[in-house]
Amino acid sequence: MNQRGRLAPTPTGFLHVGHAYTFGIAAERAAGKLVLRMEDLDITRCNPEFTAAAIEDLRWLGISWIEGPNCGGDFGPYCQSQRSDLYLLAWQQLAQQKSIYPSPQSRRDIDTAAFAPHVSAEGESVFPAAYRPNEWVVPEHPGCVPWRFRVPDGKTIEFVDKNFGLVKRIAGVDFGDFIIWRRDSLAAYELAVVVDDHYMKIDEVVRGEDLLTSTARQLLLYEALGWKSPNFFHTNLVLDCNGERLAKRLHGMTIRELRRQGVAPEKVRNNSVEGLRISQHDLPWPNK
Ligand code: GLU
Repeated sequence: MNQRGRLAPTPTGFLHVGHAYTFGIAAERAAGKLVLRMEDLDITRCNPEFTAAAIEDLRWLGISWIEGPNCGGDFGPYCQSQRSDLYLLAWQQLAQQKSIYPSPQSRRDIDTAAFAPHVSAEGESVFPAAYRPNEWVVPEHPGCVPWRFRVPDGKTIEFVDKNFGLVKRIAGVDFGDFIIWRRDSLAAYELAVVVDDHYMKIDEVVRGEDLLTSTARQLLLYEALGWKSPNFFHTNLVLDCNGERLAKRLHGMTIRELRRQGVAPEKVRNNSVEGLRISQHDLPWPNK
């Protein structure tokens, strides 16, 4: 082990036990070589107060990181909101290759299409191939239209996850053409994460099981950009006593609430808080 890893919270709320569990595993597997990155692209939903709170909660958990912009002797996090030039470079490369195309259709257009779109095992409407444009001119800038990556229909994307083993997803069936650039002219999650993990030289990405299909999408981006992909370790999700994902209902399970109740940091990190358990391949996936 001892590989470079990363912690990549989105500062739209307080960190909860699910984050603590994933970040605890990331810290163990990276043996201290961690980068902290705030995924704060969506400025309308992200809040500097949550960034500061996440840093404080991570410190309380005993998780440290080695790198980031220097903030007066302390390492601050990298912030995606400051890295748009890098995302734009990747957009240019993909646009010139014509691996991506402008796609004005909204989610509503897809859901209300005259022909019923195919719905994936995870319940997502797969973007209909009929909406792909035949011709388009590559502009210098993305403009105010979303851009999608064109997936190779029928291709099986396989990877060996360090926790789940062999994972397979079929492009065009399990997911369709996906957004890499948003209407508000910001890079979308799938692109920003790949660009950052590449430039930050991440060896192993540790994140929740709910992102397995995203990993398949991102592997297509690594290939299109000509970059080597990192290894992946997807963590089981932390569930409450009703088997619900914590991300959905927090029930007072934020790190700061548990801290206020006097729960020890190790218990929060190891997922030994009463009433919680981890998922046993609960996601609706046929090939697991
Ligand atoms: N920022 C994402 C989240 O908080 C994690 C993304 C990733 O690890 O790739 O869920």
